[in-house]
Amino acid sequence: MSEKLHIVVCIKQVPDSREIRIDPKNNTLIRQGVPSIVNFYDLHGLEEALRIKDEQGARITVVTMGPPPAEKSLKECVSLGADDAVLVTDRGFAGADTLATSYVLGKTIEKVAETFGKVDIVFCGKQTLDGDTGQVGPGIACRLDLEQLTYVSKVRAVDKDSGKITVERHLEDGIEVVQTSMPVLVTALKELNKVRRAPLPGMLRAARFKPVVWTTADFPELDRKQIGLKGSPTIVARTWVPEIRKINTTRVEGESEQEIAQKIVETLWQTDLPERFGWKS
Ligand SMILES: Cc1cc2nc3c(=O)[nH]c(=O)nc-3n(C[C@H](O)[C@H](O)[C@H](O)COP(=O)(O)OP(=O)(O)OC[C@H]3O[C@@H](n4cnc5c(N)ncnc54)[C@H](O)[C@@H]3O)c2cc1C
Repeated sequence: MSEKLHIVVCIKQVPDSREIRIDPKNNTLIRQGVPSIVNFYDLHGLEEALRIKDEQGARITVVTMGPPPAEKSLKECVSLGADDAVLVTDRGFAGADTLATSYVLGKTIEKVAETFGKVDIVFCGKQTLDGDTGQVGPGIACRLDLEQLTYVSKVRAVDKDSGKITVERHLEDGIEVVQTSMPVLVTALKELNKVRRAPLPGMLRAARFKPVVWTTADFPELDRKQIGLKGSPTIVARTWVPEIRKINTTRVEGESEQEIAQKIVETLWQTDLPERFGWKS
């Protein structure tokens, strides 16, 4: 039997979207006082890594690029069962768009491989709850020249000896079963699994755990023009809250379904809908 699989899980700390409000003056998110959580889809990526670890043994390294408080999210992943955690943080990385983020995360995964051992699978979430672009996973795969399996709803098999992974991809018109060779990058859907709760020993380990912290100084080979704000060509031209139109509603009542249907047709006939849909010539 060859040595254990090494799985990297990319996680992002995001504001809890259930608690987010919009500043009506400038239409930006009010992040102050909003609790942070691990991005929901990333927890499904981690759960799948843990499931593989439970079945056949694996080493799991969680990685995040973010401000120092993102350490809390890494500790949460350790409490769930991750073995190692890496926080990539530095003012020089701040303001990164998805291009710069995938560049830095690609370099981080290369460094993780040098430090903790060759990587077989990288899990990312399908998208984040805040940035929401869904570009970072495929971006990392391109940077590292990895096979990418996106929208994965089931991992059917992982065979370390043959180096093959088989998954189900959830597409609009059906399920696609794909087999490919590792190393591979997988983006996780929520259908992939049910996320577990942290066991008590995991929580105790996480309380004492200190993630590895890497800053720009740890990546002397990084092209400084490709990181942080300087390396981020994306421009957000404008943000706004969509106008909520007030809709007039009419309650239709009647003795039978036929009577109610008749009244609905008569009510609709008096609006501008028939003309708009070309029913009245
Ligand atoms: C100092 C510092 C401050 C930052 N501040 C902010 C901020 O205020 N707001 C903000 O949105 N971003 C911030 N970032 C992070 C970075 O800019 C974003 O992560 C990036 O642009 C991701 O875009 P997205 O949310 O659309 O990701 P998507 O493409 O939607 O993410 C898809 C998947 O990629 C992975 N992924 C995405 N981002 C990261 C990450 N950073 N680390 C690990 N895995 C990731 C996750 O698995 C995720 O599910 C900061 C980074 C640093 C270093």
